[in-house]
Amino acid sequence: MNSIVSKFKLNLRLTWTKRVWHSLWFRLIALYIVLVGITLLIFSIYFYFQLQQHEQDTLDANLEAATLQIIPSIDLDNGPPHFRNAINPNDSNGDSPKDLHDKGYFIRLFGAQGQVVESTNQLNLEIPVKTPFKSGYSTVPSVDNKTNWRIYSQELVWRTPRSAVPQQLVGWIQVGWPTFLTFDALTDAYKPLLLAIPLVLLLAGLGGWFLASQVLGPIISITRTARAISSTDLAGRIGETGTTTEIERLATTFNDMLDRLQAAFERERRFTADASHELRTPLTALKGRIEVSLGQPRSQADYVDTLKDLNTEVDRLIRLSNALLNLSRIDQQHQSWPSDNIDLTDLLDSIVETMQPLAESKNIALTGQLAPGLNISGNFDQLTRLFINLVDNALKYTQPGGKVTVSLKETGQFARIEVIDNGEGIPKEYLPHLFERFYRVQPDRTSTNGGAGLGLAISYEIARWHHGKIMVESKVTEGTVVSVYLPLKT
Ligand code: ATP
Ligand code: MG
Repeated sequence: MNSIVSKFKLNLRLTWTKRVWHSLWFRLIALYIVLVGITLLIFSIYFYFQLQQHEQDTLDANLEAATLQIIPSIDLDNGPPHFRNAINPNDSNGDSPKDLHDKGYFIRLFGAQGQVVESTNQLNLEIPVKTPFKSGYSTVPSVDNKTNWRIYSQELVWRTPRSAVPQQLVGWIQVGWPTFLTFDALTDAYKPLLLAIPLVLLLAGLGGWFLASQVLGPIISITRTARAISSTDLAGRIGETGTTTEIERLATTFNDMLDRLQAAFERERRFTADASHELRTPLTALKGRIEVSLGQPRSQADYVDTLKDLNTEVDRLIRLSNALLNLSRIDQQHQSWPSDNIDLTDLLDSIVETMQPLAESKNIALTGQLAPGLNISGNFDQLTRLFINLVDNALKYTQPGGKVTVSLKETGQFARIEVIDNGEGIPKEYLPHLFERFYRVQPDRTSTNGGAGLGLAISYEIARWHHGKIMVESKVTEGTVVSVYLPLKT
């Protein structure tokens, strides 16, 4: 039991660690600290080397200045170079070798053959003599290798009085300074700076925390809102985040998406409710008729009559379920209809021909005025369905003796197809709703014709799929013009 509990605790800890590791919050803070740390480190190293270089340049300048100060007190005229006044404790006139020695400089004189002639006491022991000499600076380790010395070497040249021309090399002078004196001081000055780094990183962590809350706060509130939204309640929206434009844009995009989703859900819900209502009404009527017929024995003629009526109702049901199936296919398969080159003139001509018998049966003159050779890219079956719906409407809502014309013209980049009738027309207030599913102008008026109010909705979807548009103009008692614009093939 105990082991199960400890295993559970371990799992919990692991998932918690994993969650922290994967959280953007943690990563932002960690990244911020690492970036500040690296910047600080690079800056410190760069600054240290710059300072070191500066110290070395100052040291070199001091060594050269000291050498120039010493040279006048060297006797070059009598044998190997030597100080006019021996380096002794009593000698202290200004910048004599003694003074410089006391300040910490090391001074050494060599003869022309490289032999040491004079040297500031025991310091001589520390620096190995390296011949041949070269004028300039060098860094030399001490004999015991414990410290480095910066050395300035210069040749000593004997000249005849008043002549600037060098005559003879008589020896060398070396002036040195232990570098640790300079660089230890530098390191000491740096220590407090290094100690301050953890404090700076802590501050960076706090800064990172602040930044992360600025960025992630609104995102967390968006997540909360998203979590609260379910398919049954899509009403929730993200309020003003009051932050950056980017987050504001994310919130707006999210809200827009919810608006669209809510509208789609609403449409879907209405569609399902309307569809079941449409199916239930004829089914109830059918059941009523059947029950009445079965209520008592009837003559054969009565049964035949009833069956004829039932047959009409069943036809209506078949039409309705076909239309529903059609719409749901359109909704699902938008992308997958194959596209072909369609000769609109041919297609409309054959539709006029196909619908001719129906027009004749209603005593309506159906004619086509079709411009030749207009091609578009589209799906043959769907386009046929679109135009049959329109011609069917025109025939259905036009009185016997009326006139229906199908016209095809070229308008800019579009083919314009118009189905014109001189039928009953549609009152203005109904026009904006005609393309809604199950919408019928005055349902009583049309129910006798068996319309479900889906034809124009289907036509609208088909036109949209073909990157075209469809519109209706109508005047009551004068007639209706339904126009379809489809992009011509270029
Ligand atoms: P369905 O096409 O599904 O069999 P329907 O014809 O009633 O049924 P739609 O084609 O979508 O449905 O048309 C919607 C409504 O618009 C119709 O009910 C009708 O009132 C009106 N309408 C459409 N075309 C015309 C027209 N040419 N003249 C007069 N009214 C029309
Ligand atoms: Mg119709």
